[in-house]
Amino acid sequence: MILLAGRWRPFIPAGVKPLSDYSSQGRKHCSVLSYVCQETSGGYYDSTLIQWRPLGSISIKGETKAMKEKIQELKARLGEINDLNSAINLLYWDQTTYMPPAGGAARGRQMATLGRLAQEKLSDPAVGELLAGLEEFEQTLTYEDDEAALFRVARRDYERATRVPAQFVADFYAHTSESYEVWAKARPDNDFAAVAPYLEKTLDFSRRYADFFPGYEHIADPLIDLSDYGMKAETVRRLFAELRERLVPIAQAISEQPEIDDGCLAFFYPEEAQLAFGREVIEAIGYDFRRGRQDKTAHPYMTKFSLNDVRITTRVKQNRLDEALFGSLHETGHALYELGINQAYEGTPLAKGISSGVHESQSRLWENQVGRSRVFWNHYYHKLQGVFPEQLGSVTAGEFYRAINKVQRSLIRTDADEVTYNLHVMIRFDLELALLEGKLTIKDLPDAWQARYESDLGCRAPDDRDGVLQDMHWYDGFIGGAFQGYTLGNIMSAMFFKAAIQARPQILDDISQGEFRALHEWLKENIYRHGRKFTAEEIVQRVTGEPLTIEPYIHYLQKKFGELYQL
Ligand SMILES: [Zn+2]
Repeated sequence: MILLAGRWRPFIPAGVKPLSDYSSQGRKHCSVLSYVCQETSGGYYDSTLIQWRPLGSISIKGETKAMKEKIQELKARLGEINDLNSAINLLYWDQTTYMPPAGGAARGRQMATLGRLAQEKLSDPAVGELLAGLEEFEQTLTYEDDEAALFRVARRDYERATRVPAQFVADFYAHTSESYEVWAKARPDNDFAAVAPYLEKTLDFSRRYADFFPGYEHIADPLIDLSDYGMKAETVRRLFAELRERLVPIAQAISEQPEIDDGCLAFFYPEEAQLAFGREVIEAIGYDFRRGRQDKTAHPYMTKFSLNDVRITTRVKQNRLDEALFGSLHETGHALYELGINQAYEGTPLAKGISSGVHESQSRLWENQVGRSRVFWNHYYHKLQGVFPEQLGSVTAGEFYRAINKVQRSLIRTDADEVTYNLHVMIRFDLELALLEGKLTIKDLPDAWQARYESDLGCRAPDDRDGVLQDMHWYDGFIGGAFQGYTLGNIMSAMFFKAAIQARPQILDDISQGEFRALHEWLKENIYRHGRKFTAEEIVQRVTGEPLTIEPYIHYLQKKFGELYQL
């Protein structure tokens, strides 16, 4: 950029293409070239950083040539780390979708190598020096400036990475890859003994990870912080206790009412037709198949290789209509979040959802607040009946709506209804803490699991397949920090959905017409596009005007299920 006669004038070398996303600058219809022709413009195009910047976001003397070089070098280094992590995601995606089973051992080694390289690059003292060298410049930027956010988040990642040896990361990748393979076989075989030694190691890895962060209040804190930055075991415990006190009476009152008949969901539903219908729905809510794809896996998840390649996976049961459908809506919610991040953040640590809680708020919002609502099925039920006339021809929309919202004591968390779901999460969270605290051993875990399911949900799994082996958590990641995000997400989803409807009251009417743009755009504008720029706490406050509270969620459950069960 060149400064002439006291006025910013843009210098755009030939070949520099305008960026496509100006919406975050509130200049939707203005291309770079036409914009910069306006001499009274409120900003300039920074050709070195390939970024449009508003005037006032930067001090003139702050951004020297040396500073620019530092920023460029930092971005280049962070870009390489991002590439390595994306490659790890791709290897993992392949492992859980198409890889032949015998490929497991080599895959573990490959992921371990990339994981170690990424860790070495991130904890390289040169990154720390660059960040330190940019601190003064950072202080001249506003908190909301993209670059300030980049430095802030990169520093947080860097400081965390310097605590954890690269070899530990490599060993952990190799271990979890193997552990996942053993679990994938042990679950159908109902063989807890096969995974137990792996879980012992995972617990040891988890404790060692926590020990890299001495001074924690609770041993789970560093692990919770990894997925829900800023959260602590004690905060989560308090929040869960408060929620539990309000949830249990709702679940209790429902259990005293006549059971809902959900038999219509358990007819034979051919896989192809289920997937085709699901695809139509997720495309309608905004999933762009030119920037993503859907494949089958054992335990569904969303993954990302770039901001323009965000994939979802699903699981189909031909004797259960709700599994693939709501699973797809759930993963699409995660994917819409990643796809909606400001494209200018590509390759930087900002190009990611904030935390597991905020991420889960988006998947649960689309799955439940939208997908399990009456208004949604006002539009989609006759379409679904059209796809499955034999199965659903004589089932009314009201009966179907009741079936997909049936509340029952159940064994599998991912299949649980909205009322009891959090009770599953609380069990898992408490078991994680007990394991980390040393109050529970791996050997005793299956029994402890059964005891808690009996006392909290009044049911007992016939064997470990539907008990301690039910999902891949703990088998492909740390023990600790894996579960609180689900319930935080439920709580936030109600806060966000309420705020969206307050801001754009037409959203519910739109949904009943199969039109989702207003909601999607609102979420993009208020949550998605920011990536990791703000913390979860900040985004909740910005979007809803208040700190995290369970009230909107409780209100939502009371209203919806009060009506369904005539409480
Ligand atoms: Zn999820």
